[in-house]
Amino acid sequence: MIPVTKPFFPNSDAYKRYIDQIWANEWITNNGYFVKKFESELGKELNTQNPILVSNGTIAIQMCIKALNLTGEIITTPFTYVATTSSIVWENCKPVFADIDENTLNIDPSKVESLVSGKTSAIIATHCFGNACDIEALVSICDKHGIALIFDAAHCFGTLYNGKSIFEFGDLSTCSLHATKLMHCGEGGLIFSNNTDKYEQLKYIRNFGHDGPENFHGLGINGKTSELHAALGLCVLEELPAILSSRKKQSEIYDDLLQGLEVTRPIVSAKCEPNYSYYPIIFPTMEACLKARDLLADSGIQARRYFFPSLNKLNYIEAQEVPSSESISSRILSLPLYFNLPFEIQKQIAGTLMSM
Ligand SMILES: *Cc1c(COP(=O)(O)O)cnc(C)c1O
Repeated sequence: MIPVTKPFFPNSDAYKRYIDQIWANEWITNNGYFVKKFESELGKELNTQNPILVSNGTIAIQMCIKALNLTGEIITTPFTYVATTSSIVWENCKPVFADIDENTLNIDPSKVESLVSGKTSAIIATHCFGNACDIEALVSICDKHGIALIFDAAHCFGTLYNGKSIFEFGDLSTCSLHATKLMHCGEGGLIFSNNTDKYEQLKYIRNFGHDGPENFHGLGINGKTSELHAALGLCVLEELPAILSSRKKQSEIYDDLLQGLEVTRPIVSAKCEPNYSYYPIIFPTMEACLKARDLLADSGIQARRYFFPSLNKLNYIEAQEVPSSESISSRILSLPLYFNLPFEIQKQIAGTLMSM
């Protein structure tokens, strides 16, 4: 079976050398040498200040909601991975869905304004598939209403916006370093804050609120990650240029091979340099989408309905209408894309789709 994605395995000798060093240091977790080194290397790579390494991309979102003291309603996108919505509910806030723009698959700012109420405390928007939201429009709505802006940038490692890391936008921005993401450390996440106070507070939150062994700064949780994960992340980071260029090349190959197929692709903002983290195609109908998925499955290829269902359909969410999100989620398929996906397989996938 050709999977839709596959974790990147870095050179194992490099990892083994790090493991020997961890054994020599006799230090496994709690802000160790490799965690600090990984954070500092990530900051250099992204040309951003002070990323905060946490245990996953979901806790990253939850920590942001806590750090900003969000309550009441949070306007968000229904077309994202479930973690964006579930984190909001988990933190006892109510997700209010603004529909998406069918061209970009991102939250549509023109649908947001009418949903802002006295109860709204923030917008949490996802840069879907590594394609930037209309950041200026969202910032202006948040400024006008005095509400916070968080970006779930889980898909965005390496994405640039106006030539800068996309993580620099919003009050806070999060990323996932899960094994299936383009850049990973097995399980991990990142938080980016341009606000020094929030940065300090998030570091306390990550470590139970501890301020020294006997003092507590405030409420916290365990959002830490281990030396073993950080060392794995350092190994993957060393090979990042190859990962990024291979994705770009594979995406261009798909573009080429699929010319003439009756599908559309998300439109990428001109200000955004994407990271080619996924290869979604949108069919004209759900029937065509399911037929393509089944045909591919018959020849041993897994394509995934990513994202399906539209999150307004979750059984713990009260009914809300977002027709564009429902329409797109019923017709979208992500094709296999991972490091070293062979050209022959891409040809086979394209051949299957073109024969429909
Ligand atoms: C992967 C992902 C998350 C969750 O990240 P984890 O590290 O798996 O917890 C959140 N949001 C989006 C959009 C994701 O794709």
